This record gives sequence, structure tokens and C-alpha cells, in this order.
Amino acid sequence: MTGAIFAHEAHERGKSVLVIDKRKHIAGNIFTENINGIHVHTYGPHVFHTNNKEVWEFMNEFTEFNRYTSTPVANYNGEIYSLPFNMLTFNKMWGVITPEEARAKIDEQRRASGIVEPRNLEEQAISLVGQDIYERLIKGYTEKQWGRPCKELPAFIIKRLPVRFIYDNNYFNALYQGVPFNGFTEIISNMLKNIEVKTECDFFADRKFFEDNAGKIIFTGQIDEFFGYELGTLEYRTLKFETENLSGVDNFQGIAVMNYTDSKTPFTRCIEHKHFYPGLEVSGTVITREYSSEWRAGDEPYYPVNNEKNNALYDAYKNLAREKAPNVIFAGRLGEYKYYDMDVAAARALEISSAEFY
Ligand code: UDP
Repeated sequence: MTGAIFAHEAHERGKSVLVIDKRKHIAGNIFTENINGIHVHTYGPHVFHTNNKEVWEFMNEFTEFNRYTSTPVANYNGEIYSLPFNMLTFNKMWGVITPEEARAKIDEQRRASGIVEPRNLEEQAISLVGQDIYERLIKGYTEKQWGRPCKELPAFIIKRLPVRFIYDNNYFNALYQGVPFNGFTEIISNMLKNIEVKTECDFFADRKFFEDNAGKIIFTGQIDEFFGYELGTLEYRTLKFETENLSGVDNFQGIAVMNYTDSKTPFTRCIEHKHFYPGLEVSGTVITREYSSEWRAGDEPYYPVNNEKNNALYDAYKNLAREKAPNVIFAGRLGEYKYYDMDVAAARALEISSAEFY
């Protein structure tokens, strides 16, 4: 997303641009492929959502979005709970009906925990939704997802999720939301129309050539790898996807995203791709189970682990970049080591390109 937007903006301003990607295909992790009429998210589920009108209009220049609204559910040992945390969740958990009863329950559990100023994800979660929801819907999922105790994770990760005292299970507080009718890859291929693209081309295999020939490089890979890990290795989470094409099943789980929030189920979530397209009538279905683990060299890095130690190391790399690579712009989730959503990555790429070209 970041690289393609930058390339598009540079091309629009008359620059000569080359996009390289070490994978066989464009579109990075938003790549989708069509399997039996279903757009399958190869690298994990994506739903575009934003409050930024400019970004929404920009994205709509390249694709048409459907009306999909993210409403995942949590499966805790076979009990289904509504996400994000809203009155439907509170009703199922405690039998409460009014917002006042729900607040009272959460306040009671927060007081019992003795937390005043939340200092980590666990304390933040208990303060927001109480002990019961923390235990059943957050702890297991988060510890599988991040591979660390909730006490050692930053609070901001859980603040991504809304807590609502209304019966509204729209996962995102976003004015604009959807999934491209033709799959996500189309967005990127349209952005890169008329731009030279080389896939299966690894920057590190020929870095001298690229560094000598490009006036400016926008690098959307890992900043630590760029510098040969000379200051140390940043931590990431990697994902493994297990995809099954179930030709004899039309509706496997009745929803696009089911999170498994217990600690025993080894995967974090199960995706049924066809449900990102409400009303889609194709027979058969494709599902993907998602497993999270610690990144090791050679794995795909998906999530930065933004704790204090890693953030400080990232800052050290940024200083090194200023000194040693003034012609390189580090951007995107990996280049900036930030847990960006697509819309924020898009806004940032537009910002970087306008700073660069005006
Ligand atoms: N989370 C959770 N239970 C859930 C869903 C999410 O505890 O059922 C927490 C978890 O820590 C996760 C964070 O909320 O890392 C952010 O979730 P989000 O759905 O935004 O993650 P993404 O889709 O980016 O992986």
C-alpha cells in the first residue's frame, strides 16, 4: 500500500519510477487471489475502514468498495460472544440489559482489581471491560497473538478496539468501510498502471545497483535488515495461514471472521472469505486458520512488537538512517515499525509523497 501510493504519486508528478517486490506478485499483504469465484486474502483478512474522507476518496479512484461491515465474533470454548465489546457482549456475559447495569458490572470488577492508572494491556483491558471479559475474550487471544503475557504488552494495542454501551457490533468506529468488489489486488494494480514493476526482485540481491541508480528510494521492508541488523534485531510477529478449499460446503461458519479467544485452540482466528461479500452466491467455500508466532530471520514479518525496548532500537535505526542513508525514505509498517492500519498507511504515504514532491 505504502510503496504503491508513493510510486503512483511520483509517477503523476513526472518522475521515472521502478517498483520492485521480492514476491511473485504485487500488493504486499493486501494481496487477494480469486479461488473459485471467491477473493481469498492470502496474507490475512483486510477490511478497509477510515474516517479520513480524503483517503476514502483517493482509494475510490482505484476500486469500488462493497458494503461489508466488520462484525466478527469471539468463540470462547464454544460460547459465541459479540465483538467489539458492546451491549450484546455484556448481555451474553452477565445477563445485563441496560447500559447502566453493564457499567455497574464493569465498575465493580475494575474496583475489585484495584487498578487506578493502567500501565499495561492487562490493566487497560480490565479497566475498560472488567475481569470476566478480559479472562474470556482478551487474555487467551492476545497472548496467542503476541506470544507475551498481557502484563508485558503496551496498553495501546487493546485501545484499538471500541467499547460501546449500545447494541452496535460494528467493529470499527469508521465512517467509511468496505472490501473491494474485485478484491484488494486490483487497488494496487490500478495504482501501478503505467509504472514499471519487477516482481521476484530482491533489493538485497542487487542493492548497489539500486542505490547507485535511484535518486530516491522508498524502502518498505524492515529497517533493521536494511542496515544488516548492525544495531540489533527488532522483534516482529509472523503468521502462518492454513487455507482449505471446501468444495462440498457452502457455509462453514456463518461469518467472515471468528476469533478463538481461549488459550488452548492453537490458531487465533478462522476466516471464511466468501462472507466478506454479503449476498455472494457461489458454491463451495474457502477458509483460512491463522496462527501467530515469533518472527525468525527468513519468516515474513507482519506485526511490529511496539514495546519500549523495540521502539528505542527503532529510534536508533532512524538516527543511523539519517546519517548513512539520506536518500532512503523508510515507510510503512516495517519501515516505520508501526502497527498501521491500511488507511493510516495510505494517509502517511500521501503525506510523505507530497512532502517529497512539492
Ligand atoms: N483482541 C482481543 N480479542 C479479540 C480481538 C482482539 O483480545 O477477540 C485484542 C488483541 O490483543 C489484538 C488487539 O485486540 O492484538 C487488536 O485487535 P485487531 O482486531 O485490531 O487486530 P488485527 O486485525 O490488526 O490483527
